[in-house]
Amino acid sequence: MSIKIQPEAIASLRGFEIPERLGFGTVMAPVMFRARYQDGRWSDGELLPYGPLALDPAAKVLHYAQTCFEGLKAYRCGADVALFRPERNAARMAHSARRLCMPPVPEALFMDAVRTIAAYCANLVPGNSGESLYIRPFLMGTQPDLSVTASRAYEFYVIASPSEAYHSGNMRLWVEREDSRAAVGGTGDSKVGGNYAASLLSIARLKERGYDQSLWLSPGNRHTIDELSGMNFFAVMDGALHTPALNGSILEGVTRDSLLTLARDQGIEVHEREMDIDDLLALVASGTCSEVFACGTAAIVSPVSELGDGESRYKLKQAPGPVADQLRRALLDIQEGRAEDRYGWMQKVQVASY
Ligand SMILES: *Cc1c(COP(=O)(O)O)cnc(C)c1O
Repeated sequence: MSIKIQPEAIASLRGFEIPERLGFGTVMAPVMFRARYQDGRWSDGELLPYGPLALDPAAKVLHYAQTCFEGLKAYRCGADVALFRPERNAARMAHSARRLCMPPVPEALFMDAVRTIAAYCANLVPGNSGESLYIRPFLMGTQPDLSVTASRAYEFYVIASPSEAYHSGNMRLWVEREDSRAAVGGTGDSKVGGNYAASLLSIARLKERGYDQSLWLSPGNRHTIDELSGMNFFAVMDGALHTPALNGSILEGVTRDSLLTLARDQGIEVHEREMDIDDLLALVASGTCSEVFACGTAAIVSPVSELGDGESRYKLKQAPGPVADQLRRALLDIQEGRAEDRYGWMQKVQVASY
């Protein structure tokens, strides 16, 4: 597969200056990657200047939400720039695409795309601990046709954003007892925009009450914990780590899997299981549950200081607690090259010169 590097893309890279304040996902790299799918085959990839897309107003994505996305990061890893477990994102995007009846982006094309973006944006990877180049691949059905059938044409893009960590500091979670973000048999285990759209009303309501994130319950039973809108959920009880087992409505986070691996290797007892919300709240109230935290690529590890449920408030004894701290540090030490990468998680990027 060959990738065309447009001269205009190089020109926009040369003219780009990183602002001092980054935030998360607001400063965009001046280039983007694109490949198109038509008549059963993928085009070559191209690196283009970042800019608006031309979409037909009848494009299926705009009406029937035929789209999925990924999120991964390139880190300053010692003297190199490296991607963290990108093959997991390639596999998950293929899974999300199949669920929405879209052709999966072949792993080789996905990897070429994120490597090309990281190679050309290597200068834009910020260097402070916790900062990185956030990379956002997405796929969408573009066929202009209002019939409810799968699109026959698709576009795959990768954009990138030099960023700080998504959410720093403690979070307050609201137990969402009314709405669901995903359905039984639905798209909860796929990374699709529709799940996020379904979560926005809950987030707007809880912000009014002074909370930061919804804690979603399983749509089937409404009393076991699933996860947050874009992060997986962990609790520490008597020194052991507990997280909801994958059940079809939880998104399988790469960070979740990485933290479970690190915890097991550090001798922390790990339980993947059904977690009843009322049991958890009682254990927080009694102090047996000493820490709660959430994790994801964007936010890394975010400690939870309080859970709100109706009129009741449950404060955590420790936020940030020692287990969250230890795991966050262990993960960042690998990602930023201070610790040996015993698991082969980091993939070095060949930096492009221009
Ligand atoms: C992306 C996402 C996560 C976190 O996954 P990571 O691979 O760790 O970034 C968790 N939950 C949901 C719903 C997500 O969309």
